[in-house]
Amino acid sequence: MQLYVHIPFCLRKCNYCDFLSGPADESVREQYVNALIKEITQRAQLFGRRGALSTIYFGGGTPSVLTVRQLESIFNVIGKEFRIDRSAEITIEVNPGSARDKVHFLANLGFNRLSIGLQSIHKSELAFLGRIHSFEDFLECYSDARQSGFSNINVDIMTAFPGQTENSLAQTIERITQLECEHISAYSLSIEKGTPFYERFNDIEGPVVGEENERKLYWMTVDMLKDRGYRHYEISNFAKPGYESRHNSGYWKREYYLGVGLGASSCIPAPTGDERNRNTTDMAAYLADPLTKEESSVLTKDEMIEETIYLGLRMMDGVDTDKFVKRFGVTVRSLYGDVIDDLAAQGLIYEGSSSLTLTDLGIDYGNYVFSRFLK
Ligand code: SF4
Repeated sequence: MQLYVHIPFCLRKCNYCDFLSGPADESVREQYVNALIKEITQRAQLFGRRGALSTIYFGGGTPSVLTVRQLESIFNVIGKEFRIDRSAEITIEVNPGSARDKVHFLANLGFNRLSIGLQSIHKSELAFLGRIHSFEDFLECYSDARQSGFSNINVDIMTAFPGQTENSLAQTIERITQLECEHISAYSLSIEKGTPFYERFNDIEGPVVGEENERKLYWMTVDMLKDRGYRHYEISNFAKPGYESRHNSGYWKREYYLGVGLGASSCIPAPTGDERNRNTTDMAAYLADPLTKEESSVLTKDEMIEETIYLGLRMMDGVDTDKFVKRFGVTVRSLYGDVIDDLAAQGLIYEGSSSLTLTDLGIDYGNYVFSRFLK
């Protein structure tokens, strides 16, 4: 089982962000931590003893806006209520603008993987995106992390936004790879409703910088990172060998996870199929009762199969078709033979002896390929 802990606070909202996060005063943050501790305790009584946690992921929002004492109290209750694998991957997302002076405490608490939201090394690009930090803040945070003993660091970068050029992106990639971080996530800008960018760019169809340009920047990123020793293991994720994110890989391999915190989703085993549920997204409701659910349903076998395929295809190793048979008792081909033949004829998919993978062209048309596996 994996555990996701949602911390829905940020010092300021970035211009593109539609995550469930935002600024909040100290008293709300304190009440939230108390509610979260209550939820973890109660959920652990339901699920905690079924197996040890293989990964723990503090995401957000920006977990590093919480105080060290608050993070410690959450961490301690997890340790008390759950069994944790000795080799568990324990990640926390930090913003270089709010992580200063905290990084060594995070290492002492037991986090062993740090995910730093950088996005770009350029001042004008960070300002355009509405980020609160500078590249110098990032460098300080990164150096503190190394000195504190973090040997597994992810850096997030963003691609394909207005003002970014091939040259400026290449400089960002060059500079962060010189630091030898173990993992890089590189997502293209997407315009989401309710964000300042939506007001500004909502009349543009597809990527704001144009489909062709977005793809050019994507493949340039892939090529540069591969040249520098990073394995392209998921559409938007790259890692030095052995440093693939175990937590996120669990999502793509459709393993079970428990999500705690505002709006957190879970996928847990249930007697008649997998249960997917989502906590309330209403802060007042969560503070009043942190077990309040917004959605809950038991997935049908067809839904589990669809998810297994389209999530698995996001990974460059693809869907493991042998494991698929063990899990569902049927072959992928017996269910989707016509779809596979058609997509293979278009050069979008490759069927190996025990895997189904996207081709490079299939990555460019990923959403279309995924849609073909939905009934
Ligand atoms: S720091 Fe992250 S979660 Fe917070 S607003 Fe920016 S992108 Fe969203």
